[in-house]
Amino acid sequence: MSGYLGRAVVLATIVLGSVAPVFAAGENVRLHEISEGVYSFTLGEGNYSMFVVGEDGVAVFDTFHSGHAQEMLVAIRSVTDKPLKYAFHSHNHWDHASGGQVLKDAGAQTVMHALAAEWLAAHPGRDTTPPDMVWTGDRRDIDMGDFTVEMRYLGLNHGLGMTVFTIPERRVAYIADLVTPNRVMFAVVPDFNIGEWERSLGEILELEFDVAVCSHNGLPADEALKGCTREHVEEERQFIRDLRAAILAEFEKGTGFLDVPKAVRLSQYEHWAFYDEWLEMNTLRLMTDLWMGPFPWYPDAE
Ligand SMILES: [Zn+2]
Repeated sequence: MSGYLGRAVVLATIVLGSVAPVFAAGENVRLHEISEGVYSFTLGEGNYSMFVVGEDGVAVFDTFHSGHAQEMLVAIRSVTDKPLKYAFHSHNHWDHASGGQVLKDAGAQTVMHALAAEWLAAHPGRDTTPPDMVWTGDRRDIDMGDFTVEMRYLGLNHGLGMTVFTIPERRVAYIADLVTPNRVMFAVVPDFNIGEWERSLGEILELEFDVAVCSHNGLPADEALKGCTREHVEEERQFIRDLRAAILAEFEKGTGFLDVPKAVRLSQYEHWAFYDEWLEMNTLRLMTDLWMGPFPWYPDAE
């Protein structure tokens, strides 16, 4: 190596070292501080967790699976040695409710809504564990000393016991599945009540936060790690409304029922992830809701 090249490599190492992520143990592992002591974390598989570091300890939001949880633990330990206090699961679906044992073993208590816990007790996944703490009702706070975890159950929107978390002291939120920036709805929109989802998005817009971590995000990982915003909540709601309007327009025109999925195009969303793969499935699901009624549903839900 020439002296010049050697100096260049040393210089590049110093420069890159000064701007490198806080944590980069694995090639696909990413960590980003979205607010003071609040980090978003991903392995690059499309799953985004959040953790919050306070004076008394650390709170974790969604663990996804044991491998994700183990890498997140390493990431947490790269920024703090505070004790792990809680690992919150957003809802009953196996992806979000898996990997909790890793955090339990590290000293955290796992937490989920009772509706999620009851379903998981009857339908355990390979990597799920019973929670240490369950909560009931619509609202619960957990005091973490210098910050508060506010938990809200907004009703039957997606999954069971779906909890939206806010940390008012840091002006952040954790939102699972209800907001997926830059991505159309998931496939055939399983286990969503679309009307209730739309209502919940309006309620999320009333909450106090500047930035959130959205559990799944169609933006490139570097962008997605910076979190999602209120605009993404509004875009999610607008997508539902635009799709519904487009379907109703086809009904109005007299388009054959089974021809509607191919007829509906939403060019303003063409750049969204899975537009080509899932728009027809989204359409089929929403049009059957409009034609036959929503599901899942129970009569005493508002
Ligand atoms: Zn889900």
